[in-house]
Amino acid sequence: MSESCTPGADAAADAGSLGALIPAPGMADLSVPRGSMPPKHLSDLSGNERRAVVEGLGIKGFRADQVSRQWFGRLSDDPTAWTDVPVAERDRIVHALVPSLMQPIRKLTSDNGTTVKTVWKLFDGVLVESVLMRYPNRVTMCISSQAGCGMNCPFCATGQGGLRRNLSTAEIVEQVMAGARALAAGEVTGGPGRVSNIVFMGMGEPMVNYNRVVASVARLTSPSPEGLGLSARGITVSTVGLVPRINDLANSGFPVTLAVSLHAPDNALRDELVPLNKKFRVEQVLDAAWAYADKTGRRISIEYALIREINDQAWRADLLGDLLRGQLVHVNLIPLNPTPGSKWTASDPRDEREFVRRLERKGVAVTVRDTRGREIDGACGQLAASSR
Ligand code: SAH
Repeated sequence: MSESCTPGADAAADAGSLGALIPAPGMADLSVPRGSMPPKHLSDLSGNERRAVVEGLGIKGFRADQVSRQWFGRLSDDPTAWTDVPVAERDRIVHALVPSLMQPIRKLTSDNGTTVKTVWKLFDGVLVESVLMRYPNRVTMCISSQAGCGMNCPFCATGQGGLRRNLSTAEIVEQVMAGARALAAGEVTGGPGRVSNIVFMGMGEPMVNYNRVVASVARLTSPSPEGLGLSARGITVSTVGLVPRINDLANSGFPVTLAVSLHAPDNALRDELVPLNKKFRVEQVLDAAWAYADKTGRRISIEYALIREINDQAWRADLLGDLLRGQLVHVNLIPLNPTPGSKWTASDPRDEREFVRRLERKGVAVTVRDTRGREIDGACGQLAASSR
């Protein structure tokens, strides 16, 4: 992948074949604002690139492997504990490979301390958030891929502020590393633990920052010392439906789960709820998803925020069931978490139950997402929005 100090150029390459959209109210904006990117970090680089950086300092390349093993294998971000690296070289290596990228400015917990939400301030002052959710048999981290978002979905808090910039690969990876370190140190209720699942469902549209998102998946799944050694099968990339990027991801060789934020089975309503639908229609997005399932063998996750009297009618459940039946698919219904000032709210529980029943009647697997972290503004972008 290409990493450069001029993200505008990179961003244009990321948008690539998607073409330019003139941003207008209610439209998705695929352009990415120019802005400076953070200093290079270990987590941006492959093993060879790290060795080259260290050799550029006149230090033996294998020191990069030692530092990487401390970082990813031992989850140590404390250079004074890296006793295998000579003190005389340590400071220079730290400066070159592990510059400080993000500061936690707020930490909120709920569910007895098993849900931890963090707002991060990045080197240029922009805010992003990540959430750690511990369950009896797994720990899921919800991470951000962009500061803000250009997709403009009217029910989503992140969309309201527009896109600030893409996150660097390391800014994505380090959200997970912070959670992994906190778990290893026993700082999360439930004793020492590990991250098992990752969902790209925090701020941003991962497919607009495609190259860096794929690079972050490479880092997270490579074994130590190259990376954290997670299973790609535990990683979910969620998208509004950038069809060319869904196709790219299918060919990336990483068997991650694809989640598609559908929210409506008909183009008329989806044009409103997910403005990118004007460019990539329901049928095109679903065709790309089925091709993804064919290629990877992975079940597609369909995200559907249930919004009272907007998209929760019985006929829409039937239509959704008809679109999905017979496919390798699972529907995640998300009770809408109303954003401040929104006129929309979650569905009546009876309508929610009927929606589930109708999908089940068509033989479509469906669950209603639990609402972890609601009281700490757990919904997409709300906490960072209220910290601005
Ligand atoms: N841009 C990507 C990933 C980030 S959002 C995407 O749209 O898929 C992760 C999920 O949360 C998406 O399905 C999104 O539609 C949903 N979401 C956003 N705001 C929400 C809200 N207020 N209530 C319920 N779900 C919401």
